[in-house]
Amino acid sequence: MEIRYIGHSAFSLSDGDTTVLIDPFITGNPKATVSADELQATTILLTHGHGDHIGDAVPIAKRTGAPVLAIVELAGELGQEGIEVRDPNLGGTAKFDWGWAKLVPAWHTSTTPKGTVNTPAGLLINFKDTIIYHLGDTSLFSDLQLVGRRHPIDYALMCIGGHYTMDRFDAIDAAGLVAAKTVIPCHYNTFPPIETDAQAFKADVEAATSSGVLVLDPGQTHTH
Ligand code: ZN
Repeated sequence: MEIRYIGHSAFSLSDGDTTVLIDPFITGNPKATVSADELQATTILLTHGHGDHIGDAVPIAKRTGAPVLAIVELAGELGQEGIEVRDPNLGGTAKFDWGWAKLVPAWHTSTTPKGTVNTPAGLLINFKDTIIYHLGDTSLFSDLQLVGRRHPIDYALMCIGGHYTMDRFDAIDAAGLVAAKTVIPCHYNTFPPIETDAQAFKADVEAATSSGVLVLDPGQTHTH
């Protein structure tokens, strides 16, 4: 499978036939290297409803027919656009042909651009037996250590930019709690308030924990 970092918090997971798209914020993302029209999706997963996470989910869903998974209040708003939605709440798991996705807690806030208040989440994803944990936007909290207990995490997609989320220093502790084999940092350098040093984060995490850190540039793909 391939993990592609699209930029900001957006990733795609693909084996060539199936593509899971996460938080596809492309239009208005100054670091994006693709346009939303070029992206394929079998399923779209959203961590929460802020504009830099919903992004282009609706037009991509309309073009591709991909269902969108989001927490129930957010799914309710999106369903009014005439797209197929899956609407679990925290702790709930939705099954797909390619595996499953579970919503887990994240400490953050969220209101959509249209005004729907929704609880932010992280996404624990089983994509064809690889376990990926997208933390969403969050601060550091101790329950991060619970997420991987039943399903040891291969890849943690972790915000490090600070200001709107935890910064790269709190994210060192988060990496210790999550205990993924590999951490891929995200949600940094898109805008001035979230500029940070991902290579310093990599050095710090690899010194303090048993996780490896993979720094991907927007547009870059990692083959698992
Ligand atoms: Zn947010």
